[in-house]
Parts: sequence; C-alpha cells; structure tokens
Amino acid sequence: MIYSGKTAVVLGLGHSGEAAALLLSEEGATVTVCESKETPSLRERAAKLEAQGIKVLFGTAADTDATDYDVCILSPGIDPVVPLVQNVIAKRIPIIGELELAYEECICPVIAITGTNGKTTTTELTTEMLKGCGLRTMSSGNIGLPFATAVKRSHELDVMVLEVSSFQLETIKAFRPQVSAWLNLSPNHLDRYPGMAEYRDAKLRIFENQTAEDFAVVNARDELPEIAAKKLTFSAYTDDADLTLRDSVIYFRGEPVLDQRNTKLPGIHNAENLMAALGMGYAFGLDFDKMAAAVTEYTAPAHRCEFVRTLNGVRFVNDSKATNLDSVEKAILSQEGSLVLIAGGKDKGFEFDPIAPLIRERVNAAVLIGEMKERIAKSWSGVPVQLADTLEEAVEKARAVAQPGDTVLFSPGTSSYDMFRNYGERGNRFKEAVNALN
Ligand code: ADP
Repeated sequence: MIYSGKTAVVLGLGHSGEAAALLLSEEGATVTVCESKETPSLRERAAKLEAQGIKVLFGTAADTDATDYDVCILSPGIDPVVPLVQNVIAKRIPIIGELELAYEECICPVIAITGTNGKTTTTELTTEMLKGCGLRTMSSGNIGLPFATAVKRSHELDVMVLEVSSFQLETIKAFRPQVSAWLNLSPNHLDRYPGMAEYRDAKLRIFENQTAEDFAVVNARDELPEIAAKKLTFSAYTDDADLTLRDSVIYFRGEPVLDQRNTKLPGIHNAENLMAALGMGYAFGLDFDKMAAAVTEYTAPAHRCEFVRTLNGVRFVNDSKATNLDSVEKAILSQEGSLVLIAGGKDKGFEFDPIAPLIRERVNAAVLIGEMKERIAKSWSGVPVQLADTLEEAVEKARAVAQPGDTVLFSPGTSSYDMFRNYGERGNRFKEAVNALN
C-alpha cells in the first residue's frame, strides 16, 4: 500500500492508464487522470472512473494542470515531449510507468518477454507451455489484461508472463523479471525514437535490475552488453547457442528436445519463438519432454501469417500484424512457392529498400497500398508493382495476377493508421475481402 494517502496523476487514458488509475485508487491514493484527446469512447471510460471517485481532465485542462502530485504514471503511448509530460518533469514529480506500478504490487515471480517481433506469440506460447506443465500462470502486459489489472491475481499464480514493449520499459525503476527474454531486434518505431540506439537502449532496460540469480534467454545473433543474469542463448541460424535448430528439430546443448513439425507453428521465426519459450521453461526448472508435449496444439494468434482460404489453387495468408520489415522477411521465408505480396501503410520513418533483394527473389508481383505506396514502388524497382487505393482493390489486383500454386501474402511491413484503426481492423478487412472473392 505504498500509495495510500498519496496523490497520483496518470497521464493517458488508454487501457493501461485506466488500469493504473483504478489500482491506485483501490490502494487509497487520490487519483487524477490527464488525457489530451477527448473522444466519445474516452468520455465513456472517464465516466466509469469518475464514478469511482477518480478525477479526469481532458484537453487544455489536462495540458495545463499545475498540481503537485506525489507520483506520475506515464502511459507507454505518450511521447515524453508533449506538454502533459513536460509539465510533470518541470515539477520534478517522480515518473514511473504502469509496468513498474503493477510490479510493485506483484506477489508472484515475473517472466518478461521483449523483442521487435514475436512478443505476443511467444508470450501466449510460453503461458500455454507453463500451464501444460502444471504451473498456475497467465499472460498480461502488452497483451490481454493490463498488468495493473492482472496483478490483483498474482497471489494465486506461480508466475506472471508479461509481454513488454520498449515504451513500457522506458519508465521502469525496480522492475526485475526472474526470467527475461530478448527475442530479436530490428528497425521499428523510428518515428518515436531518434534512432536505433535509443530504441535498443529502451529494450535493454529489461535486464537492468536482474541479478546472477535470474535468467535471460537471448537471441544469440544480437550482440548485447554484459548482463548480470545467467544467459541462455538461442538461434535458428547458428550452432553456437544453447538452443539450436537443425532439420526442423530444436536441440538443447546438443540433445534433441522438440521437433517443430509436431507443432502448429511453422517457419524459422516460430522456431525461434519455440526456442525462447523452451529456454524460459528450462530456466524455471521444467522438463523438456513435458514442455514439448504442452506446445503441440498451440497456434499463433490471428493476423500472424494466418491462413485464410485457398481459391482456384491460390492460397491467401493474412499477416496484418507485420508492421516492420523483419516480420515481412520472416513471413516470406515461411511460405513456399511463388508469392504475390500486398504491402504498404503508414510512414514509420524507414524505407523498404533493405528487403528489395528478397522481394526480387521471391515475389512475382506486388500490390501496394497506403501512404508509402509510391516510395515502396521506387525501393522495389524491377519487381512488377501495381498501386491500389483500397485494400479491397489490392485483393482484386493480387487475385488477378496470382497463378494456381501461388500464395497471396498480405504482409504490410508498416503500421495501419493511415487507412485503418489498427492492424486488427486491417487484417479483418483483408479476410472479408478474400472471403468475398468467387
Ligand atoms: P509482436 O507482439 O512483437 O508484434 P507478434 O507475435 O504479434 O509479435 O508477431 C508480429 C509479426 O511478426 C507477425 O507478422 C509475425 O508473423 C512475425 N513474427 C512472429 N515471431 C517472429 C520472430 N521471432 N521474428 C520475426 N518475426 C516474427
């Protein structure tokens, strides 16, 4: 009850802000939430909080609030340069994030998973695996319930499995996962960070409070600084790691532990997600046979290389969650045969040149949509490219050029906000368009 009798300001009324406000209020703090945007759905959320005695300020009232609070909870979506945050910094109010706040309340050990890609899949997979091995656990964080809500169940759990983003890690203080996982690192969020170094530094904070009693399961291909935790490495690309891959079989220190063909997670990227999960289970003292048996039925969540249908010999795959180039590359590598690729979306601060050689090698035709379509077309010179104004038009164009045996892969490579509310809406629209074809 650290915050009982204290005053707290929560910046941002997203799901995690709402959860943080409720947790603080239940603990006996006097809570104000500040939110710059005022939309009907945020108003509704505010009304629920106000009914619990939490004050909510919108717009200018939020931006200019001059109260001296004891603590500030900063939501991960908020860029620290905005007035809301600058006010709090000027007043020297201690700032933490919802991750830290919930961690302070957490009774059970924590597993935390970060990386540019594969966080959600690996978090869910690890949770299923641990459950299959008899542990009481749940996923939360950047997935499912916010940690500040899930933490109220921590007394009945053996371990909490958290998906953590770079933004959430920016505002930790004492957060110390007993087991951490670093899945991979590739360019992303460069509209929010000055460069890769800052993005990487934010993610590296996952290790900062770990000690030699803890474990870090890390991708052997990423060069990381010295860390205090015991390291377990994995890689599908080199034999120089604790967990390795050969002919679809995962090995732990030379012993076969899991045949990927016995799982529903195809592709080299999923082999790495499986390795990371196995590494975390090992760190928890679990038996490889039990872990292997527990992961055979798990399928990746929707919008991650999700098979939609086959029509006239053409397969359609929805990978709307691919919001950076590494995930497009992995999606392409996980598909067999010739591809027609639908890509494009919002400008996130990177160009599509790095994957041009792979596109030339594997993609017969591309259909581009969104804010970046002309720029991507330039980056991929030499590839037959068409532009489309809507996703439905793109699906039609892709279908028209696809030959029997081809796969039409929708792997946008960037975020959806130029045309859709989020990647989920984008993926659902793709599936609807594909299912409407006849
Ligand atoms: P995140 O939560 O980190 O965004 P997801 O599991 O939601 O990760 O997957 C996001 C995208 O990345 C999907 O397109 C998926 O197919 C792809 N992906 C999943 N795991 C990996 C991985 N280990 N490496 C690269 N791409 C991956």
